[in-house]
Amino acid sequence: MIPATSFDAQPSDWRRAYRDLVTDPHELLALLGLESLAGRLPAAGHAFPLRVPRGFVARMRPGDPEDPLLRQVLPLDAEYRPQPGFDLDAVGDLASREAPGVLHKYQGRALLIATGSCAIHCRYCFRRHFPYSEELAARDGWAPALAALRADPSIDEVLLSGGDPLALSTAKLAQLTAALSDLPQLRRLRLHTRLPVVLPERVDCELLDWLATLPWPVAMVLHANHAQEIDTRVAEACAALRRSGVQLLNQAVLLRGVNDSVEAQAGLSERLFEAGVLPYYLHQLDRVAGAAHFEVGDDEARSLIEQLRRRLPGYLLPRLVREVAGEPYKSPM
Ligand SMILES: *Cc1c(COP(=O)(O)O)cnc(C)c1O
Ligand code: SF4
Repeated sequence: MIPATSFDAQPSDWRRAYRDLVTDPHELLALLGLESLAGRLPAAGHAFPLRVPRGFVARMRPGDPEDPLLRQVLPLDAEYRPQPGFDLDAVGDLASREAPGVLHKYQGRALLIATGSCAIHCRYCFRRHFPYSEELAARDGWAPALAALRADPSIDEVLLSGGDPLALSTAKLAQLTAALSDLPQLRRLRLHTRLPVVLPERVDCELLDWLATLPWPVAMVLHANHAQEIDTRVAEACAALRRSGVQLLNQAVLLRGVNDSVEAQAGLSERLFEAGVLPYYLHQLDRVAGAAHFEVGDDEARSLIEQLRRRLPGYLLPRLVREVAGEPYKSPM
């Protein structure tokens, strides 16, 4: 059992860690003894700069240029070479905007872009080109977003996404859920967040208290791509989340050089389960500009899942899906 004392952390602790991210690629390389990679960094001054919490860096293997965690965050020169077929709005988000910050693509579920901020910048992220500044649900208060939800009685699940919704203060989240509790049709709340994995300090007593008192069943979809991301501190944060009544799921993205092997995928599923998290989706990469070097072909992806199916219990097999603009669900492959 995990001692409760590890969760007496004060909200100021995560704020401090969130402010003290590594943002200089040269510092990151120096921390890992990989100064020799400096020649592969892009020229300075580009959009979507490096951002990574120090605790996540501590889980990387020093001296290993192929480290699966490093590869997810290190900006490379190669990203900035245009690749045919890799576009700016790969998943059609701009077409499914219902109100500022509200995306309604699937029946019954509306996604709220609660904030554009993330503690980490994942190089493969499909939101790296999304015009966040115009799309924050919070920008004019929550009123327009809430009005859009209220006007559609078919929506019974709200997904808080971003960016990372847990980048908001718990007080701000509580304001939002207080407003949502006026909507009689809501039956579930879902959060899509990478913070408990990349900055487990975020799971403090204030957050846990808020989660435990919400009026709906809560699902939290974490985002870990490799077993090495889930150290003891992250597993403790997951245990605490579960104790507050949250159903924990994980989505990963299939990434060349990160988790494109049976070993890596099986290791991730097994480690997630040890931490009380069930695998949900394994996403085929969205073809966004800058992410081409992460792509795994569809045939290889299917063969990987086939081998995993032999190896793992059914409940540890993630669903391999791809997001196709205009489809009514994430398309199974
Ligand atoms: C992925 C996504 C959802 C959730 O889809 P599920 O299959 O229920 O996980 C909802 N809305 C949008 C806009 C999404 O991109
Ligand atoms: S945390 Fe999520 S939204 Fe933020 S950069 Fe990473 S993948 Fe994208």
